[in-house]
Amino acid sequence: MPNDTSNHSTDPQSARTLRQATLLVHGGIERTGYGETTEALFLTSGFVYDSAEQAEATFKGEVEHYQYSRFGNPTVVMLEKRLALLEGAEACLCTATGMAAVHAAMLCHLRTGDRVVAARALFGSCHWIISTLLPRYGITTEFVDGADLAAWDKALSTPCAMVLLESPSNPMLELVDIKAVCDRAHRAGALVVVDNVFATPLLQKPFELGADIVVYSCTKHIDGQGRVLGGAVLGRRKWVDEVLQPFIRNTGPSLSPFNAWLLLKGMETLTLRVNAACAGAAAVADFLASRPEIGRVLYPGRADHPQYALAQRQMSGGGTLVAFELAGGKQAAFAMMNALRIIAVSNNLGDSKSLATHPATTTHMRIGAEERARLGISDGAIRLSVGLEDPADLIDDLGLALGNLPQRAELAAD
Ligand SMILES: *Cc1c(COP(=O)(O)O)cnc(C)c1O
Repeated sequence: MPNDTSNHSTDPQSARTLRQATLLVHGGIERTGYGETTEALFLTSGFVYDSAEQAEATFKGEVEHYQYSRFGNPTVVMLEKRLALLEGAEACLCTATGMAAVHAAMLCHLRTGDRVVAARALFGSCHWIISTLLPRYGITTEFVDGADLAAWDKALSTPCAMVLLESPSNPMLELVDIKAVCDRAHRAGALVVVDNVFATPLLQKPFELGADIVVYSCTKHIDGQGRVLGGAVLGRRKWVDEVLQPFIRNTGPSLSPFNAWLLLKGMETLTLRVNAACAGAAAVADFLASRPEIGRVLYPGRADHPQYALAQRQMSGGGTLVAFELAGGKQAAFAMMNALRIIAVSNNLGDSKSLATHPATTTHMRIGAEERARLGISDGAIRLSVGLEDPADLIDDLGLALGNLPQRAELAAD
């Protein structure tokens, strides 16, 4: 790469020995000749060559030179290197959104006649790709209950090309035993794609558990400040170069360099933000669990989470999301959300601002009542993404909103 001459550039080999917080600040930096401190923002669509001969040699692959930002841009590459170092992946390619990452990771690999198995509890658009898009191309798809190893055993007893899972899942924070599923998937011939958004790159390391491919919506904690959309696919060098890269290069879900630059700046504070939001989420979960209006609190960091032992094994923290269920159903959930002053009603997550979602009527409306029932998404369920406010203020906000709830009898009379 041009200008990779600074003695402060982080070459991937030596960077592997650095600790996470340091990698998040320095990983992947390539300084220009100007010696800028911060990551340079290359807002350019194309690149020029010294000569026609250099252009020819570039296209032949004989020299390394950026060609066109659809398939390579120095700011985007800095982000890809930083993400790969953080994840412990051989390679990474970024995309314009998290959904572009999931879509590219699957479609670059799959072909007609293949079989895909996915955990049922998926982000809404991931669910659509599995249930609606892939079958259009003659790909057989099957959902399993992600927490049920016997169901995985059965589904993976026949050959399979790819497995997609999310853990913890959106919105009810159900876990999948990633290592156990990877073992079974590999025996069936499948590559395992883990959507690691809810765990963040800090709290769960899918590659260490056997995953082949990890995908992120960088829109969430990696930006973490609600500013831009972005996505990433991480995997082995050979697969990324030979299978994923041609797909991205030719179909064009590329990340804007400006967004890549914001994501690089977001990564600098990722440990600080995720640790603070986790502490806030744990405090909020404990508070909610103490309230009589709440039927059920789901937080992987609490001992009463149904898969707490698994959470302890495969995650190093409970995460920044809490799901809970109001005993009074949809009316109580709406009344509570409408009474919140600090926590905003939004379907986004992983923001510095705390956000509350009613999945049954928003993010998971389209999957239908039957599928929601299977996923345990009741009409009283709320998903709370905990941000960076003082947890005591969030607890006050939730407490006031709960205190204002009409009694159940009044709700029933409405
Ligand atoms: C948000 C999200 C996505 C999609 O990411 P976008 O950046 O919105 O396209 C995929 N999976 C999970 C778990 C998410 O939370």
